[in-house]
Amino acid sequence: MIYEVIVDISNSEVDKVFDYISPFPVNIGDRVLVPFGKRQIEGYIIGQKEKSDGSYDLKDIIMKLDDFTAITPEMLELTKYMSSMNLRKVDCLRQFIPTSIRNGKTKILKRSYLKISDKVGTLDQALDLLNRGAKSQITLVKRLFVNGNEQERDINKDFSATTIKSLVEKGVLERIYYEENRTPKSLDIENKKIELTLEQQNALNEILGPEKSFLIHGVTGSGKTELYMRVIEDSLKKGKNAIMLVPEISLTPQMLGVFRARFGEQVSLLHSNLSPGERFDEWRKLRNGYSRIALGPRSAIFAPLENLGVIIIDEEHDSSYVSESNPRYFTSEIAAFRAKYNNCKLLLGSATPSIETYYRASIGEYRLIAMNNRINNRCLPEIETIDMRREMKAGNTSIFSAKLLSAVEDSLKRKEQVMIFLNRRGYSSFVRCQECGFIPMCPSCDVSLTFHSEDNSLRCHFCGNKYRMIDECPNCGNKDLKEGRIGTEKVVKELTRIFPENKVLRMDLDSTSQKDSYIKILNSFNSGEADILVGTQMIAKGHDFKNVTLVGILDADISLFIQDFRANERTFQLITQVAGRAGRDCKPGKVLMQTYVPSNAVFAFTARYDYKGFYDREIEKRKGTLFPPFSKIVRILTQAKDGVLSQKANHKLYDLISGALRGKEGIIRIQEMPAAMKKKSDYYRYQVVIWVRNEFSQNILEIIYDISNSFHEKGVTVFSEINPQQMI
Ligand code: ADP
Ligand code: ZN
Repeated sequence: MIYEVIVDISNSEVDKVFDYISPFPVNIGDRVLVPFGKRQIEGYIIGQKEKSDGSYDLKDIIMKLDDFTAITPEMLELTKYMSSMNLRKVDCLRQFIPTSIRNGKTKILKRSYLKISDKVGTLDQALDLLNRGAKSQITLVKRLFVNGNEQERDINKDFSATTIKSLVEKGVLERIYYEENRTPKSLDIENKKIELTLEQQNALNEILGPEKSFLIHGVTGSGKTELYMRVIEDSLKKGKNAIMLVPEISLTPQMLGVFRARFGEQVSLLHSNLSPGERFDEWRKLRNGYSRIALGPRSAIFAPLENLGVIIIDEEHDSSYVSESNPRYFTSEIAAFRAKYNNCKLLLGSATPSIETYYRASIGEYRLIAMNNRINNRCLPEIETIDMRREMKAGNTSIFSAKLLSAVEDSLKRKEQVMIFLNRRGYSSFVRCQECGFIPMCPSCDVSLTFHSEDNSLRCHFCGNKYRMIDECPNCGNKDLKEGRIGTEKVVKELTRIFPENKVLRMDLDSTSQKDSYIKILNSFNSGEADILVGTQMIAKGHDFKNVTLVGILDADISLFIQDFRANERTFQLITQVAGRAGRDCKPGKVLMQTYVPSNAVFAFTARYDYKGFYDREIEKRKGTLFPPFSKIVRILTQAKDGVLSQKANHKLYDLISGALRGKEGIIRIQEMPAAMKKKSDYYRYQVVIWVRNEFSQNILEIIYDISNSFHEKGVTVFSEINPQQMI
């Protein structure tokens, strides 16, 4: 038999299948070590055949790398599907197995225990074997007769190594080894006995009916999580498994807590912030069928579960579901593939579905289920718009409107909690010299540096470059430096100054870089230790804090003026989501939204919770301008360290593509231009952007891929993406 192997070479153009023979039995899906040129390389067996069509001498597979078959037949099919979307097979295969398994460095954790040997029946028999004077030996034997088996490292605390050694040698004690799972932390949550509301029950009935794919449009706090759990329960009962996706790692401790309370050890968590050991154990539990629910952010869509009953994507509109680095994929497309393969249910849920998904529901691709009420008919929190221009005119130049401050004060007096949302991290967005106007810029990127007061640094949020903060202008020596727009750090500082009695926490990318740090923050806020939580979009989604009654949105406009056709949509989603954190339990909630453009239509829809009105307006606009979902936007990004080289290469690509597409049906327009961020991490960036009508896109994409994949020029990298989430 000939085995077809994909070799695991990173950053190479090689994505070819090579033939090998094997001196020992192997299975399709095994990871193996193979000779490749002069080297030995890891690879994946993806197929077998009787005859090789290559003209080279076949070499032997050297060894199998795991004691199980790592890649299931489904994942092999998925690889084929993904490679049809212009992705390298090896990049896909790598997604399916965590690094800690692939690199062979992490091992199963075994702990040694000491027990009374089976040969010794009673305490007296044991004592007969010991010298009367061996006091500590006697004490230890008595202790183990009382306590049963004990971990050796606990015994080590009280007894010497010689004591243990001689007891083992005398045959009184035995060592045994137990495997121990390294389990990720979660929030402590009690399992509540819950009776479904009528709305939830109707939704459940519909989902368990004959249809397969659903969009659940349920307002924040309508009890979607409970609904998901019921659908999963149904799957488990039928002997099937489930995947549950959440948009952010920071949401997993809460969801894991809720799921553990309900499903116990049947749930495993998969994400990149776990320790290698945790990841190794959680993955293996899923692979060997010990746990049956995979929970995690987008990468958990590749969970090694077979026989799926349901795949759920919570907060489906979230842009984190699109992978923007290699391999680039849309989680919803992978989910749709797996749902079809397993013939299982697919649930997308959101309070603010993406315009594209809602449109697809409206043309019947998903069955739409609406949940319009909060649990127990609690009201959605009232959203009040605050005109910050008026505040300025009235002489208030601080970041807080007078109204917001007094509302915070009132809430704190009532011992209720407050969330303050600002989607900008750091202390201030930039620093400017008041004399000459100098602004420190990142030398590697086309952006200004952000001031972080924590470590008095200037940082680039794109490449991570970090410098010491300046105390005078390097250009003119002036010491009068002005800070730009405020970030979360400064908000915390101000709030701490104004409310010195209260504890303020911050949750953003910077405060959560250490493992499990977000669990500490969430637990502390959840338990009421802290009164105010300040954060970026990390605090906007999904969290279910019972005692939060006030949400302040400091700068609602941030996402409104980005150059992106989804700017309105993103703003609507973000504000609705943050607002949804208030008043989730018995006390009513209130939202104060500060803006400089209060008359903007998006805010009017947001304040009324009028998703449908917003959608109708937005979809009309997209129809008129032929933006997605009515088209696909393909962007080919050209990058090189030399700006002229990059521009020239991009222009060549433009010529090739526009030449090949000339006269083709379905092309709306083709443009070449510098990327919005002209330089990033030392690379100069240019792009060709092509708008294609949906119905013609398949053909045209193939032409574009052919050209961009075969375009090779020294020092230039080219990649293509469809409907980019951010056109920076
Ligand atoms: P969503 O995900 O729609 O924002 P959640 O699922 O977080 O909402 O539900 C909000 C709160 O309501 C949770 O604390 C949940 O435990 C509770 N809840 C859900 N369903 C019910 C029910 N049928 N009866 C009582 N409480 C419920
Ligand atoms: Zn930079």
